[in-house]
Amino acid sequence: MSDIQAQFSVLKQTADAKVVDAIARLIEDGEDHELNRVNVLDFSRQHGLDEERAISAFLHSARLGLFDLGWNVLCPGCGGVLGAHSTLKALRPDDYHCALCACGYKASVDDQVEVSFTVNPRIRRIAAHDPDALPVWEYFKQVFWSSGVDFNKESFATLANEVTLDTMELPAGEKATMSLQLPNDFIIIFEPVTHAAQFIDVQGEPTKERQQLAIMYNKVRAPTGTTTMRPGPLRLSLENQAGVRVLPSVFIAAEALHHLIGKRKPFLTAKRMLSNQTFRDVFKADNLNIDQRLQITSLTFLFTDLKGSTALYERVGDLAAFDLVRAHFHALLEIISSEKGAVVKTIGDAVMATFVRPEHAIAAGLRMRAAMDELSKQRGTADLIVKIGIHEGPCLAVMLNERQDYFGQTVNIAARVQSLSTAQEIHITGPVLDAPAVAEVLQRRAIRPIQKQAALRGIADKMVVYEIP
Ligand SMILES: [Zn+2]
Repeated sequence: MSDIQAQFSVLKQTADAKVVDAIARLIEDGEDHELNRVNVLDFSRQHGLDEERAISAFLHSARLGLFDLGWNVLCPGCGGVLGAHSTLKALRPDDYHCALCACGYKASVDDQVEVSFTVNPRIRRIAAHDPDALPVWEYFKQVFWSSGVDFNKESFATLANEVTLDTMELPAGEKATMSLQLPNDFIIIFEPVTHAAQFIDVQGEPTKERQQLAIMYNKVRAPTGTTTMRPGPLRLSLENQAGVRVLPSVFIAAEALHHLIGKRKPFLTAKRMLSNQTFRDVFKADNLNIDQRLQITSLTFLFTDLKGSTALYERVGDLAAFDLVRAHFHALLEIISSEKGAVVKTIGDAVMATFVRPEHAIAAGLRMRAAMDELSKQRGTADLIVKIGIHEGPCLAVMLNERQDYFGQTVNIAARVQSLSTAQEIHITGPVLDAPAVAEVLQRRAIRPIQKQAALRGIADKMVVYEIP
């Protein structure tokens, strides 16, 4: 059995067989570009696979060395990759700049850090492993733009033919000239390797006189500048001192360009990755630095606690109680991961979990309650009552005690809201109830939340909370 086959049989032990088969076919028969920065959400849609299982299988295959994980910081404006990192640890706190859009950004893990998978060169060599040899449009598609920009053959033909005046491959250390006819439009001379941009505001009366412009690419990122010119001929002198091949490309920054790069498709975000059970299990402490704090704008926290567990131990004895508590954990953990959540930690008989969307948390909460009823029935006991609280809001992703954890008032409130429950009712907060998809979940089950004012320990003001009876 070859090394790769051996890795696949190991992969099959931990990942969904249908997804593993699809990955094996991709590695065997896929085109090179399909194995570069795989967008797992897109992949699972194309192959009719369950998203969570596909993410999990790709994570396991990354652990086995079949794929390399990439964390790409994206420009929200153009979808370009402003920084490609092999670990979240390498994320810079605030200095990402898009030359094409002339804008600076903070890397938001909510929706601007893409997680992608590229086949490892030992498994299969693809063109993108040597980006400096990629043809110019392949470089744009595979290296510059993220897997979230929805390009197809037609849109690339439009980009190359209608949006671009000229493009050139300029090897390191060389000089060249471009002769252009400037139209009455805004022009961007963009270089995707060094991320340099020169803007030309073309306006005024057309001229027959040849205008001149010189651009030098160097190792220091070229500042973005704007010059004004008239419609007519331009001689563009280019010099490459960047030490790598550059690809100066002259774009007409009009409607067609904005339309092309404005088409987006869903991609796997860093936030979703942090709230993925397989990622937490497989990559454990290896995802953030001890001094790193990632701001998350919105995350949903679900806390559970087993009611009266001390009394339970008293009543049925340690052995039977341990067995029951273990069965309860098993059921909760399975529900959390199948509802796209992840367990951050268990504290005694309590669980802290995160979900990317509040509707997933509420669906999990309702299933947990039903699962506890079922378990109680099976065991002929009335002892398994789980108190549940859910809250959504901003937080910080941090490392605490060698674990990727969360910090902030949202976390505190979620824990306090859980403690309001005295029996099987679930307590949720306004931000959770206000999510349209949550209202849908409740409506479908004909559940009417009961509004209450609650004083939460350690929280200054009384809060409006809702009981899900
Ligand atoms: Zn941009």
